[in-house]
Amino acid sequence: MSSEKSHTDEQTHFRTCNLCEAMCGIVIKHDGKKVLSIKGDKDDPFSKGYICPKATALQDLHEDSDRLRHPVERTANGWKEISWADALDKVAAGIQSVQKNTVKMPSVFI
Ligand code: SF4
Repeated sequence: MSSEKSHTDEQTHFRTCNLCEAMCGIVIKHDGKKVLSIKGDKDDPFSKGYICPKATALQDLHEDSDRLRHPVERTANGWKEISWADALDKVAAGIQSVQKNTVKMPSVFI
């Protein structure tokens, strides 16, 4: 991963689209939290600049007001925001429970 900083607050990040197994290289330009563009990375050795429409929709996902920004846990009184450390501990405990064949599904979403 690399980043370039311009004379404004605009920055360019070279990343990988994680929406499917193709893992296309993408170039994200942003100014602070504002996404300016998402394009294919022509220098990516596999995708060579190709992206499908889902990659440009990453901006919509990023800016969706309903997007989870913190882990939440289901409680008797509804969803409760929890810390990342608590969420990861609960997920790890859930996985260990499954591995021990005493299935207890975690009620945490991250
Ligand atoms: S750009 Fe499209 S094809 Fe490429 S990884 Fe993302 S979702 Fe998959």
